Amino acid sequence: MEPLQSEYDVVVIGSGLAGLTGANQLGKWGRRVLLLEQHANFGGLATCFHRPNGHIFDVSLHGFPYGMKKCCRKYWNQKIADSIIQLPRIRLDNPQFDVTSTFEINDFSRLLTERFQASPEKVDQFFHCLKEIDFYLKGLELHSDTSLTTGQLLEEFFPGRPDIHRLLMEPITYANGSSPNEPAVTYGVVFGNFLNQGIFTFQGGTDNLLKEMRKELEKNRVQLKNQIRVEKILIRNGKVTGIIVGGQEIRCRAVLSNANLRKTITDLTGEEHFPTDYLDQVRSMRMSNSSCQVYLGIRKGEEIPDVGDVIFTSTLPHYDPEALCRSRELNSQSFSFYSPKIRPGHNRYTIVASSNALWEDWADLPEEEYRAEKQKLIQKTIANLEKYIPGVTDKIDHQEAATPRTLARYTGHEKGASFGTKFEGLKISQSLPKQIGGLFHTGSAGIIMSGWLGTVTYGVIAAHNLEIYLDSTQKSGEGGHRDD
Ligand SMILES: Cc1cc2nc3c(=O)[nH]c(=O)nc-3n(C[C@H](O)[C@H](O)[C@H](O)COP(=O)(O)OP(=O)(O)OC[C@H]3O[C@@H](n4cnc5c(N)ncnc54)[C@H](O)[C@@H]3O)c2cc1C
Repeated sequence: MEPLQSEYDVVVIGSGLAGLTGANQLGKWGRRVLLLEQHANFGGLATCFHRPNGHIFDVSLHGFPYGMKKCCRKYWNQKIADSIIQLPRIRLDNPQFDVTSTFEINDFSRLLTERFQASPEKVDQFFHCLKEIDFYLKGLELHSDTSLTTGQLLEEFFPGRPDIHRLLMEPITYANGSSPNEPAVTYGVVFGNFLNQGIFTFQGGTDNLLKEMRKELEKNRVQLKNQIRVEKILIRNGKVTGIIVGGQEIRCRAVLSNANLRKTITDLTGEEHFPTDYLDQVRSMRMSNSSCQVYLGIRKGEEIPDVGDVIFTSTLPHYDPEALCRSRELNSQSFSFYSPKIRPGHNRYTIVASSNALWEDWADLPEEEYRAEKQKLIQKTIANLEKYIPGVTDKIDHQEAATPRTLARYTGHEKGASFGTKFEGLKISQSLPKQIGGLFHTGSAGIIMSGWLGTVTYGVIAAHNLEIYLDSTQKSGEGGHRDD
């Protein structure tokens, strides 16, 4: 293990996909980068864990847009990009409809016109509008009109059609916890990304992805350390000068924080360094909701039938984003199926069931009640799964549940937020370097920059801005060099 040095150009706090990608970019550009992760595993939420009987469970590898393949080719390497494969059978099953789609734009148009009898012109206009909304890649300027909500957008194109609204919105609520009350731009970007070419996964599992990413980071001379929690970011005269770990100072010219946005500002940096108006925004910023998961391992030698790649299932009579979060009632959840196709060579089947959840529903349960609620969650999940795979109960030899409390403990994210902050967080994240020289945030923020594709993209953007800062301070004679 390479020992820690006393000084770096950049310290990256946290090894989520945004932290890893940002660190890799900066390393490629010749910066001396130290990445510190508090947990034993790298990857943040993009991680997996091993259990007895040979089970490997992926936490957040359920599906991401095609853009991830392009991003990985450009910002990681061809091998990583080549391992990304499509999940062609996405099923939505609820009391209003039971449909299977590839999640490609043509297939969705077919569903809307044939199954839901929507007018082909309206469907075309709707998809055209989504493309227009995708402002973000056109120069990172936030659309000035964020008053139009997703609900209003859907009503404008498909008035009085709650079934169509459900088809178009419910998968996105599952994917990033957003609701029809969010600005329509968030929906346009996220749904537009998914519809680009469908839903994809990483063949080989998260462990292989992280192995390949670490190789690339080592090639780019990024120093990685796990089980080291950054305690403080040091500021002098309005600029980053270092960090504290284990009571020791490490000097650096810039910090890229992949930790929770509010914690980066209030705990790691300290409120005394920020102006009141910025702090007011930080205090009123909302976190996204959290998740519950149930991990089910199928006994060695047993197989399960191919019932699709992902099933979004709900017993709710209508689309109801608030009810979707009532994880203890479990009226809705998604199932991801992992067969040897996903992890070749590992001849095992696992199933991960996820549901949106609220911190408040789990946070204060006394220990005994908490355990009992987790058991109920597992039992209800298995009962739900029986509908799709009759007899599956007898094939399961490992079962466990995670709740918002698990997520909070694992990542340190406030309220166990799965997808960072609501929309307002993006502006706060992006304007952080304007408050303190050399302090940058990256990672799930503002819905748009959450999820695998969002965070990888944001890692690149933040690294680019940080590089400009380092260059400018170098030119003005404030020190630093490239490790060419
Ligand atoms: C259950 C679930 C399912 C999901 N499914 C999908 C999906 O199918 N598709 C998709 O695209 N997205 C999915 N997501 C979302 C996606 O996983 C996340 O948006 C993304 O991985 C978050 O990356 P991040 O860069 O924001 O960092 P995070 O993954 O949040 O990682 C932050 C890291 O910082 C570390 N850290 C924090 N504080 C410190 C400190 N002081 N010192 C050192 N280290 C610190 C943490 O330990 C953590 O490792 C899912 C999320 C959840 C919870």
